Amino acid sequence: MKLIFVSGGVISGLGKGITASSIGRLLESRGLKVSAIKIDPYLNIDAGTMNPFEHGEVYVLDDGGEVDLDLGNYERFMDLHLTRDHNITTGKVYRSVIENERHGDYLGKTVQIIPHITNEIKRRITTVARDSGADVVIIELGGTVGDMESLPFLEAARQLGRELGREENVMFVHTTLIPIMGSVGEEKTKPTQHSVKELMSIGIRPDVIVGRCSEPISDAARAKIAMFCDVPEQAVISTPDARSIYEVPLNLEKQGVADYIIDKMKLGPMTTKRDMARWEGFVDRVVNPKREVRIALVGKYTSLADSYLSHLEAFTHAGAAAECKVRIKFIDSDELVAHDPSSLLGDVDGVLVPGGFGIRGVEGKIEAARYARENGIPFLGVCLGFQIATIEFCRHVLGLGKASSTEFDPDTPDPIICIMNEQKGIVNMGATMRLGAQDVVLREGSKACELYGGRTLISERHRHRYEVNPDYIERMEAAGWRFTGRSECGTRMEIGELEGHPYFVASQFHPEFKSKPECASPLHQGLVNAAIRYSGSK
Ligand code: GLN
Repeated sequence: MKLIFVSGGVISGLGKGITASSIGRLLESRGLKVSAIKIDPYLNIDAGTMNPFEHGEVYVLDDGGEVDLDLGNYERFMDLHLTRDHNITTGKVYRSVIENERHGDYLGKTVQIIPHITNEIKRRITTVARDSGADVVIIELGGTVGDMESLPFLEAARQLGRELGREENVMFVHTTLIPIMGSVGEEKTKPTQHSVKELMSIGIRPDVIVGRCSEPISDAARAKIAMFCDVPEQAVISTPDARSIYEVPLNLEKQGVADYIIDKMKLGPMTTKRDMARWEGFVDRVVNPKREVRIALVGKYTSLADSYLSHLEAFTHAGAAAECKVRIKFIDSDELVAHDPSSLLGDVDGVLVPGGFGIRGVEGKIEAARYARENGIPFLGVCLGFQIATIEFCRHVLGLGKASSTEFDPDTPDPIICIMNEQKGIVNMGATMRLGAQDVVLREGSKACELYGGRTLISERHRHRYEVNPDYIERMEAAGWRFTGRSECGTRMEIGELEGHPYFVASQFHPEFKSKPECASPLHQGLVNAAIRYSGSK
């Protein structure tokens, strides 16, 4: 078992997740099987209940795990399919230990952080590492070294180092900040020194230091860090500002970090030749676009771009495939009620209404869908966006003026969208929320089927509680809102597409969660391609 721990010092937001993902990508490019774990030192069991405003988007996995958005980066960079066990939180660890205690498993012993909590952390890490069958597992420690919350995790990591062997089986990568001060632009290494000292006081000596700095660091700074932090100079890596996060693996590769790790962990000799050519091609298309389109993202968490991270990444992937820069115009949906929609949407080439919960902002999203439908502007609705498009169609095309979802208006005369449990004859999944990968059957000859490369059976990830009310389906379809994607049993509506519109597509599932650099989400790709056509026709 080979483990690489990635910790962070000085400040949060150093791009630790991107560093971990990039190292993983580079190891993978040599034919190694890599997996990844994210440790979140908070007491929530998972991210399912967390506010996107505070924490960014809740990322959903195939198994329905609602996890930290860094797992999205791992899946995108390393092309992985992770499970909820790959996100370890303080909440999960404590819950297991307390359940074991109630069960009488500790035989009358005093239950303590060391060894009981640390043992549970070690058990979780090693179980995931073993089950994944990976040659090497990257474990990102959330938070900053020195935080009270992360101490048990660092202690568990230290112990794993001792038990598995620090020589070649466990490595520590520490990411820090190297600020540039003053007009002379001198790099300051002191914060890094302090942070490494802190790590060492816990008993962990880092093997690699990754310094986040606006510029590539000088040889002098590199030598200084190597000296004070007691690592070889080649183990001091810098991550200067990149034009795209996807450029980070290429920057790291130039500094030989993967070879250093492979050497130290005796992961070689490599049988496969390093292959980053396709990745390089992708990055090249991201940073050198030939054209540009503007897409409006109409939501209510628009003040924090991380709330919609997977959508933004999906647009980067789709944009790269079309050699097009996708500029996102964030629009707070409430603004669309306060102002004439054309004043906000008049200059965009496409509209995305993403997922969401609760009534706030709903009317503005309905306005966005209406504007896109009536003006032939390419539109994509996802999850709540799909429900919004359906409501808008019923209100303004079918003339059901008060149509709504029971989520927003429990007494609506036309509950176009209703809670899944309320429906007769439909087996409820047993959970209050329908989560994770589910099969979707696509209608042959539909736009959806075409976007998915002619496939009629796909699997996409879900996170919803409400759905289209089957009582209205026939009327909607007859008027041109076609449900061309349905659940296998046929009763659950998954995709809607509007007849006679250049691109008006919406899905109950979240295609953004499975978008990959070299294989963009088909529905985002469809929107970007339609936006390019639209902008050319203006
Ligand atoms: N609130 C809606 C539902 O629960 C949509 C959820 C979402 O957009 N993720 O069905």
